[in-house]
Amino acid sequence: MEERKPKLSIRNLQKQFGDNTILRGVDIDVYSQEVIVIIGPSGSGKSTLLRCINGLESINGGEVYIDDCKIEYTPSALQQVRQRIGMVFQSYNLFPHLTVIENLLLAPMKVQKRAKSEVLPQARELLEQVGLLDKADSYPAQLSGGQQQRVAIARSLVMNPEVLLFDEVTSALDPERVRDVLDVMKDLASRGTTMLIVTHEMGFGRDVGDRIIFMDQGVIVEQGPPEVVFGNPQEERTRQFLRNAM
Ligand code: ADP
Ligand code: MG
Repeated sequence: MEERKPKLSIRNLQKQFGDNTILRGVDIDVYSQEVIVIIGPSGSGKSTLLRCINGLESINGGEVYIDDCKIEYTPSALQQVRQRIGMVFQSYNLFPHLTVIENLLLAPMKVQKRAKSEVLPQARELLEQVGLLDKADSYPAQLSGGQQQRVAIARSLVMNPEVLLFDEVTSALDPERVRDVLDVMKDLASRGTTMLIVTHEMGFGRDVGDRIIFMDQGVIVEQGPPEVVFGNPQEERTRQFLRNAM
């Protein structure tokens, strides 16, 4: 069998804010087409981890590799990093003065210098994929939160990232809008998208995750297949967290 190499490799990642140590040496290998779900209490460093991976925060130690190539988080390299590693946030941050389709076209044309004639069909296909092709000419304010979040996901995808990071993308949504967004992510998983997902949606995580990582206080406490982490957690701290979360 061919040796499988990780798409994304996080090695001994450390992060401090002042005297406050947030990440205490985190190691994660993400393989191509794998879906990793990260759970853990508020304040455990989940968002900081994702933000460090795509260079929104500087790191204080450790390395991140993509395809065996060490990421240099220099200002000039950052733009390249963020094209390869996309991120979707809780707050979708669409450009309010642009239509949905214009939101999708902007970065591919400005940053990637791609021709409109090439991007437009892909952007329309992605809108179709997230169920919003009929909203192509609407403005963000005319859409529900869940619809805006689905546009934000399509906007990340149109850059053709190799890995997508999701940070609690359903947390700000009305409960009845959450399902549509989770369904889009489930569909991405079934299409083989490589994803690192931070979520409070335990049922979804169990469903869609190939591997579950439980973080607390800046370290990985436990990781494994969903049946084990959710069904038969090995660590008391995990059991305690899941009792309160489910
Ligand atoms: P989680 O996403 O798991 O809730 P975070 O990564 O947001 O956790 O936060 C982890 C810790 O880092 C928290 O104690 C938080 O207060 C702290 N923190 C996060 N961002 C900053 C920042 N920009 N400056 C100082 N402290 C921060
Ligand atoms: Mg967070």
